[in-house]
Amino acid sequence: MKSSHHFSLQDHNSFNVKAISPTIYFPKTVADLVQLPDLSDKIFYILGDGSNTLFVDYHAPVIIKPDFRGITITETPDSYIVCVGAAENWHHLVCLCIEQGIYGLENLALIPGSVGAAPVQNIGAYGLELSTFCTQVKWFEFSIKKITVLNNKACNFSYRDSIFKQTLHNKGIITEVVFSFPKAWQANVSYAGLSDFSDTPSPKKIMDRVISLREAKLPNPHTLPNAGSFFKNPIVNEQQLKVLKHSYPKIPFYPQGYGLVKLAAGWLIEQAGLKGYRDKGVGVHENQALVLVNYDSEQGEDIVTLARYVQQQVLTKFDVLISPEVRMITTKGEKSFIDLAIYSESK
Ligand SMILES: Cc1cc2nc3c(=O)[nH]c(=O)nc-3n(C[C@H](O)[C@H](O)[C@H](O)COP(=O)(O)OP(=O)(O)OC[C@H]3O[C@@H](n4cnc5c(N)ncnc54)[C@H](O)[C@@H]3O)c2cc1C
Repeated sequence: MKSSHHFSLQDHNSFNVKAISPTIYFPKTVADLVQLPDLSDKIFYILGDGSNTLFVDYHAPVIIKPDFRGITITETPDSYIVCVGAAENWHHLVCLCIEQGIYGLENLALIPGSVGAAPVQNIGAYGLELSTFCTQVKWFEFSIKKITVLNNKACNFSYRDSIFKQTLHNKGIITEVVFSFPKAWQANVSYAGLSDFSDTPSPKKIMDRVISLREAKLPNPHTLPNAGSFFKNPIVNEQQLKVLKHSYPKIPFYPQGYGLVKLAAGWLIEQAGLKGYRDKGVGVHENQALVLVNYDSEQGEDIVTLARYVQQQVLTKFDVLISPEVRMITTKGEKSFIDLAIYSESK
């Protein structure tokens, strides 16, 4: 199996911060995974394309970067089954499907990253989540050194969440993702920005619209390093919403059922006066307050400091806690935002 020492990760994280891994492994077959050293009591991180990853410290832990490739398409009378290796590029998959007349993923065009990372946070955009079409995730479990298959239900998908972020975190590696696309396609154009087509658009038209909306709204990580939405949209209860609406009648909110509502983190940050805020070479994007950008810092810690400031300002103004969507990786492994504060103080 290919591996490397003292490997620079700067080109492998979309914040483009400097970090170095003592050892990186690139398993591309199950035999490679079986050969991996026993990492059960070691600190390590599984890296896809690094577009949802922030290397907080210059010294990163051991990295496993799966290199499972290949896309196979089979047909049943009423659907297409598409099996995709974890290292394939997500947007490439979306384009390939549309070219092949396989429809469903068009709303998820242009999301950066690998296919293997997509189930981890159940990627979503423009009114669609991966969980709608993902039927199976093939998973190499470190403890038994074998592939197991999780069906959609077993993945426990929810908003920006899945079992891979929860109980299966660091317990194995996603090697392949399986999708099923019904041949009877239905346009999903209820979301803002897609609802003004004069008649039912083709999947390609929807994809092109999603691409142009995203290009207009989001900074390209290749020209202005970022990790997309830095914070998750917070979920509050109806009582909290009532209090907020009293002071901020225009607050946008999205009912989630069970007495819960989702708020727009970008709106909260903007109303806290932080859109365009800049400090130490990093900042809040000028047009999209949910995106933290790296103008010219080389240190992940500068982004953490900014994120803390943003979180604090929003908490002070609205009494709402916003939490990062981005994964924080230190020398001592992944940390939650709360643990990261304790970790940083102890350094
Ligand atoms: C400009 C921009 C726009 C974005 N827009 C969106 C959006 O609209 N919607 C959205 O949901 N996200 C969005 N994101 C976030 C990002 O694209 C997704 O989270 C994507 O799935 C990350 O893929 P990656 O390969 O880069 O993951 P990485 O950052 O490398 O890893 C993310 C997580 O997945 C785990 N992981 C990666 N590969 C595997 C594997 N094979 N097995 C097990 N675990 C694995 C990692 O350990 C980590 O926890 C955006 C990011 C950017 C930069």
